[in-house]
Amino acid sequence: MSDGMTKHNRTTSTRALTGRKLAGVGLAVTALMAPAVALAPPAAAQPAVANCGTSTGDTGTSAWTSHAELGKELQRLESQRSGVLDVTRIGTSNRGRDIWAARTGTGPKVVLVTSEIHGNEKTGTEAVLSLLRTATADTPAARRLRSQVTLVAVPKMNPDAAELDRRGNDRTWAEVVADFPQLAGARPSWNYYTRPQQGDDYSTRPGFDVNRDYHPDLNYVPRAADFPGSSAGPGWYINPESQAVRDLYKSLKAEFGAVDSYIDLHHQAPCYLDENGDALVTMSLSGKFVDVDKHQQYNRGYRLDYSKQLTLAAYDTLSGYGQSPFGSLTLYPQDIDLPGTGLGAFALNGSGTVLFEVRGQTQTWGARQRGQLVKTVEHGLTGIIEAVGSGAAHQIDPDRYDDIPETAR
Ligand SMILES: [Zn+2]
Repeated sequence: MSDGMTKHNRTTSTRALTGRKLAGVGLAVTALMAPAVALAPPAAAQPAVANCGTSTGDTGTSAWTSHAELGKELQRLESQRSGVLDVTRIGTSNRGRDIWAARTGTGPKVVLVTSEIHGNEKTGTEAVLSLLRTATADTPAARRLRSQVTLVAVPKMNPDAAELDRRGNDRTWAEVVADFPQLAGARPSWNYYTRPQQGDDYSTRPGFDVNRDYHPDLNYVPRAADFPGSSAGPGWYINPESQAVRDLYKSLKAEFGAVDSYIDLHHQAPCYLDENGDALVTMSLSGKFVDVDKHQQYNRGYRLDYSKQLTLAAYDTLSGYGQSPFGSLTLYPQDIDLPGTGLGAFALNGSGTVLFEVRGQTQTWGARQRGQLVKTVEHGLTGIIEAVGSGAAHQIDPDRYDDIPETAR
């Protein structure tokens, strides 16, 4: 989510990088990921250089999968895994780019994953592609998983922002009013960017933070009286990208009765330290996004404990790798109340929900670091999906959630 992130972050000392510690003792590594363990690089593989700045990073986006490349890869995978992977277009971005959902598995529990709602937060898309390759493979572990869950992934759900390598989409308020004439005369929503932000110039190309455009009432229709709104209130589904994911969520809910789990993949600032102040945070996790007491009129089976169990499934899986590049893990701040996020809105609809916040932004990492962060996301996702599939998630003590180290802020 990371509102306060900038493209140019200060450098940090190498001392903090060498003070990394075990993130905790977790569950044994699961079967699906076992081959990757053998290939996992040794401890301290993370380059101890000034990765909090831009000096060693890759300043381009060419190393990441572009929208066109994503389309080709999904098409290739679908034809290669015929009958196992189904790719459909679930919508079109404001600038006319396809938004795809990739679906595999026939299990009764649905796990929905989205990436790149913020277009400069790209590890999630790479992790999803890797996960789809593994989950659609003709292996006993993958076949078992597919019998237990139905995995639906929307990689790069905000393709206009992704192509611009920025947080907001590419849409003007005038275009919103053209779609919703009842909003003529209303003030633009509070999450409409028209000024420079995070190094991007929205003054010539305005856009919205799509991750504040969700509403827990999935049938909500925008009303002028609800604008400009605020961070503490719901969004409006005034953007085609959030509409596409909302429509997918509704169709899955109709088909399966419930969307068991929803995971949204993000990045945060690169150099947070853990609560002891001696280790850089690799990734922060969270299962809590709203203050449910303030939104009881939208509560359709909110399950905070289940979200905590799913968060712990990711945490335990990554901790199970021991002293590896995947620590250190922390909790994302718990005092947030964001019913306009996808996570907040879907949590109020009864889904177990988990946020991943990988350190750093697309501009700051070289290839090796990037690969490790992508693997961190992929392993965490796999931990959740397997725990959902086997039912093991329900055996996890949700109170252990409070033992996950906090982030020093
Ligand atoms: Zn984000």
